[in-house]
Amino acid sequence: MNSDPLLRLLADLVAIPSVNPMGRGRTGAGYSENDVAVCVEAYLRAHRVDCRLTEVAPGRPNVTAFVDAGADTTLLLEAHTDTVNADSMTIPPFIPEVKNGRLYGRGSCDTKGSLAAFLHGVCSHLDAGCRLRFNVMIVAAADEEYQFSGALHAVAGGLKADFAVVGEPTLLHIVRAHKGVTRWRIVTRGVAAHSAYPERGENAIYAMGRVLGRLEAYGTSLRGSPPHPLLGPPSFSAGVIEGGEAVNIVPGRCTLEVDRRTLPGETAAQVLGEAAGVLGGLGGWSFDPPHLSVPGMEVSVESPAVRFLSLALRDVCGETQVEAAQYATDAGVYNGAGIPAVVFGPGDIAQAHTAEEWIDIENLHAAAAVIRRLIQH
Ligand SMILES: [Zn+2]
Repeated sequence: MNSDPLLRLLADLVAIPSVNPMGRGRTGAGYSENDVAVCVEAYLRAHRVDCRLTEVAPGRPNVTAFVDAGADTTLLLEAHTDTVNADSMTIPPFIPEVKNGRLYGRGSCDTKGSLAAFLHGVCSHLDAGCRLRFNVMIVAAADEEYQFSGALHAVAGGLKADFAVVGEPTLLHIVRAHKGVTRWRIVTRGVAAHSAYPERGENAIYAMGRVLGRLEAYGTSLRGSPPHPLLGPPSFSAGVIEGGEAVNIVPGRCTLEVDRRTLPGETAAQVLGEAAGVLGGLGGWSFDPPHLSVPGMEVSVESPAVRFLSLALRDVCGETQVEAAQYATDAGVYNGAGIPAVVFGPGDIAQAHTAEEWIDIENLHAAAAVIRRLIQH
């Protein structure tokens, strides 16, 4: 590992837990991006790249670096620093192991592999004294796995770039379109009463049952709605339901958390309006404001993000594949802010969030070579 600086960097990043607390009240060093951000900062400074940490939330920073090449065009390279939890992993999550051409550990694939490849691609190029074709901004962003707040914070802070590559495990394919997602809670309220006298109360679970019936039909109808040429139709899923305090109490409240996958151009307001229309005529329900909303995105094949990355890929790998994905990423946030962004990185999404997460080391090196080729003057 020590003779391979890229692999060393990735192992260092994987060895630092940065599990997203996902709003579940988990705290402590392992449940924040801080330590991995400090590691990224140290790596950049060791390669004489100036950078800074900005807090997205207490103890949860983004790292932002800017390499000024005096160029007219600025490329943003972004990858998130958080991971999903390691509760159900069957390998030691934070003791990176190299075996059979793979590096194992939580985050190796999603998406510390991309982060390491981007950092190493840029820094090895600078260390070799090579010139840059673009100014390069690097953002190592917090909180992609839950609320996309790192990318949202970067955009709200006025981040400017002409195009962007967002690191996620795409097997070095260029993802130029993906769905967005809006999540919110639906609440039904009733009147609590002794369960021996149900007529004295109003049952919030029954009320939610009526809501659910309509929502199930809505989800089915969406499957038949006009499909996007790359992404198919939008979708809806009811995910988490909670209601009632005890079996001998008529429940006064029930909540349902729902997930609507959106097509590029669909907004959260449109989606909530549509769902409210579906529930028209039913009483006793209300919507909480969305706790997550990231737009879908679609970038033209003619955009610089696709063109420049395709050329670099062709030079390094001999071929390039441009496709669409169903999952949402930070690229939706950048596209929403007017920065054309594609998704690209080493590793396979099939290994993301799994019990034995790993990344193919050859794929990792190819990604770094593509980034180097992309920024080469
Ligand atoms: Zn990811």
